Amino acid sequence: MRISQLLRRDGVTFSLEVFPPKTSDKYTQTAAAAKEIAALKPDFMSVTYGAGGGTGEFTASIASEIQSQFGVPTLAHLTCVSSSREYVLAMLKTYREKGIENILALRGDRPADGPVSTDYRYAVELIRDIRAHGDFCIGGACYPEGHVECAHKRDDIRHLKEKVDAGLDFLTTQMFFNNDIFYNFLYRVREVGIDIPVIAGIMPITSARQLSRSVAMSGTEVPQRFRAIVDCFGDTPAAMKQAGVVYATEQIIDLIANGVRHIHVYTMNKPEVAASIMANLSEVLGRGHGA
Ligand code: FAD
Repeated sequence: MRISQLLRRDGVTFSLEVFPPKTSDKYTQTAAAAKEIAALKPDFMSVTYGAGGGTGEFTASIASEIQSQFGVPTLAHLTCVSSSREYVLAMLKTYREKGIENILALRGDRPADGPVSTDYRYAVELIRDIRAHGDFCIGGACYPEGHVECAHKRDDIRHLKEKVDAGLDFLTTQMFFNNDIFYNFLYRVREVGIDIPVIAGIMPITSARQLSRSVAMSGTEVPQRFRAIVDCFGDTPAAMKQAGVVYATEQIIDLIANGVRHIHVYTMNKPEVAASIMANLSEVLGRGHGA
């Protein structure tokens, strides 16, 4: 099923994420985590694409298996920063053959010392190629706090509008820990005429290490309230995990209470985290016994 269709339905859409293995010996382990997450019956699941490419076949296989074995629609990511156009077109063919209808079109992070594509500089070029080579539903990434490489939010939103105009059906945000930043971003994108659905991306932080790694890569602001949680529970893994799940749950409840209809959780191959958040939200999402 096309995600654009899902996003038009009444009610809240709730999606989860897995990432593919880096090597084939880890495939079974990843597929098992993906299946446990799929068994929770999210509205769709996204399957990320290894930075630098090279593991695209795993993305395609895992996304295809989730669809065929669990009937959960998938969103397969695709990056271009380290790929030739020829390779990208071959990946699109693979996605088509595996029944994948939805693609999240991304540039990818520029590798510090690896090869950079001469065919693609920005995601917008990839989006145009996907539009030209098949009937896919296409999503793109957006950054409520601005992308780390872009000095001015205004320019970042101008580039975002270019991507949308190139043929995006929806957007998914980078993680954020302060919902006010997301509400402000929504206001600014609507002001420039971006009117496609925006899916709010929520990352449950379950360890202090995960927080520092994620923040270093994305530049996401950590509110004082969340810093206090990490300072207090960061050295106690079980407590940190529980507190991180509750923080993400509260963020989602606030989003839904304020009219946000599309939520994506970066579950990072952790079925137990996905299950805890869904259990906390069962009635809020209308999936509990009282529904
Ligand atoms: P772009 O939209 O190309 O933007 C990149 C930068 O270039 C921005 O600063 C933008 O303002 C600027 N820019 C864009 N167009 C122009 C222009 N014409 N002139 C000048 N500057 C311009 N990475 C992975 O490797 N695998 C994944 O699966 C993955 N999934 C992701 C999912 C989501 C929801 C998000 C938010 C990010 C994901 N990423 C993933 C990370 C992403 O690849 C990086 O953030 C990357 O640095 C930017 O990708 P993009 O598609 O947003 O790039």
